[in-house]
Amino acid sequence: MNLTYHVTECCQLACKYCFVCGGGRKMTWQTAEAGVRLLASLPDKTAGIAFFGGEPLLERDLVEHTVRFALAEAPDKRWSFNMTTNGLLLDETFLHFANENGLRVALSHDGAAHDEMRVDGQGRGTAGALEKKIDLLLSHQPRAVAMCTVCVKTLPRLYESLRWLFERGFQRVNCAYDCRPEAGWEEAHFEEFARQYGLLQDYLFQQALQGKHLDFIPFTAKIRTHLCKPRDLCRLGKKQPSVAPDGKLYPCIQFVDAADYAIGDVYAGINRERREEIYLQSLQLAEECADCAYKERCRHGCACVNFQYSGSLREVSPVQCAHERVLIPAADRLGERLWEKGLLKI
Ligand code: SF4
Ligand code: SF4
Ligand code: SF4
Repeated sequence: MNLTYHVTECCQLACKYCFVCGGGRKMTWQTAEAGVRLLASLPDKTAGIAFFGGEPLLERDLVEHTVRFALAEAPDKRWSFNMTTNGLLLDETFLHFANENGLRVALSHDGAAHDEMRVDGQGRGTAGALEKKIDLLLSHQPRAVAMCTVCVKTLPRLYESLRWLFERGFQRVNCAYDCRPEAGWEEAHFEEFARQYGLLQDYLFQQALQGKHLDFIPFTAKIRTHLCKPRDLCRLGKKQPSVAPDGKLYPCIQFVDAADYAIGDVYAGINRERREEIYLQSLQLAEECADCAYKERCRHGCACVNFQYSGSLREVSPVQCAHERVLIPAADRLGERLWEKGLLKI
């Protein structure tokens, strides 16, 4: 099992689509250590911690302490550590520490459209401040992921932004859409998504023809679901529960502080009965998905997105549904073209 540590609710930025900032809570070292002990007590050979915020590097000492503590507490486990950061506090010393201890760092960056939404408290864009940080990160972790968020405002530049990130040196780019209920997605936006993804798949194909295999993670994940029988990758609450700053455990990120979904805490341990109930709820297929050709390949079961949209685990977000219906065909088109040329590398 892995845990997502919500180490702080604070951040130096004020991104316009942020859904996590606002509170002032921070995780204590005691709570971080208790989470490690909980992981160490499980029989699994592997364990992992993802550091999440707010901005996790504001709690750099806690992050470093937790990693060292975990490696010392259970040296026989295979540990993995991840962090997604806005990048402003990245420096050489931290990246040395990360590489020495197997901590993979992902950078939140919105590419060409970065300054539209990723602003500081005075509304100023932050792309300029990240230029040197990108070079620094890629020099230490050449396969670091860039995490791009697309919203209604930046959608017309999505292809330009993703291409910008690849051309800036990232070999792996992930992308999430703004899934707040107030995000403002309408039907016409999904035609635009299809157009943007069409341009992207063509670009990735042309790059592959030239021997450059760039990984757009949402496409890769969908191609995988075509090639292999999909498994229950989410395993809500079992694979990667969230630890709130106060140590309470929740099934995933969006559930933090939803009291009805608490599944224990790092001190007393996991409430396995409650976790099982929530897990089983998450497996029930929504009525509208029963006859859908994409049901085995779609993320309709992402309880986080559904919960954020409707407050329910199983009421599928129509935004998620519309997005999956453009993402899957675009990924398949790329997969087919690469396959025909013998270039598919999954
Ligand atoms: S960097 Fe992340 S946590 Fe900070 S304001 Fe932006 S989205 Fe929120
Ligand atoms: S595409 Fe829509 S209807 Fe089909 S499985 Fe996904 S969410 Fe359900
Ligand atoms: S609920 Fe969604 S975000 Fe959380 S692990 Fe499952 S698929 Fe991932």
